[in-house]
Amino acid sequence: MSIKQNLNQIQATLPKHVTLVAVSKTKPVSDLMEAYNAGQRIFGENKIQEMADKFQEMPKDIKWHMIGHVQTNKVKYMAEFVDLIHGVESFKLLKEINKQAKKHDRVIDCLLQIKIASEDSKFGMSIPDATALLASEDFSALKNINVIGVMGMATFTEDQNQIKQEFDLLKSTFDSLQKTHPNLKTISMGMSGDYQLAIDCGSTMVRVGSSIFGARNYN
Ligand SMILES: *Cc1c(COP(=O)(O)O)cnc(C)c1O
Repeated sequence: MSIKQNLNQIQATLPKHVTLVAVSKTKPVSDLMEAYNAGQRIFGENKIQEMADKFQEMPKDIKWHMIGHVQTNKVKYMAEFVDLIHGVESFKLLKEINKQAKKHDRVIDCLLQIKIASEDSKFGMSIPDATALLASEDFSALKNINVIGVMGMATFTEDQNQIKQEFDLLKSTFDSLQKTHPNLKTISMGMSGDYQLAIDCGSTMVRVGSSIFGARNYN
């Protein structure tokens, strides 16, 4: 099936309150343009340089989401244009995003990445650390960032039960953070293999790559 057909098919199954991020990492601009011409406007990348290059080349009404691990020293390369940063996992990083956003007179939306997987390889903050961060005075002093929700990645496993437990954990973390921060609205969870389950567990934003663009080739 074509990229357009894949997109249409996925869009048709998504409830209205769920936002689709088309994860286009490693894919050429021609593939992204095919998705763009089919109506897709939100694209997710996991490398800042690649995202910046694609931003330069592509139409300016695209919303660029950084879904990968962010190195503090590279925030400056996306501060001008990034729409949402999913992978915020420290106050230090948030402070740098705030600083770079200020230079461009912007407020940048961010998600706190919460570690829900049992694998050590996955990034993210602990739930107590995220709670403490949002409650801190240092956090409320940052005027050029806006934390709008949470993001998480489940363990890479076939065990649907385990994935469900991890998604449930992210949802309950969101619910508890929302009690003190009623402006939180986004739960970014679910990828090609598990986005339907994620939506059942309360996801409001899914990050889908290979089901739209086909398998990635990293060579
Ligand atoms: C690559 C990636 C995705 C998309 O993965 P697919 O399985 O291709 O849908 C989603 N989220 C993150 C953080 C990713 O790095």
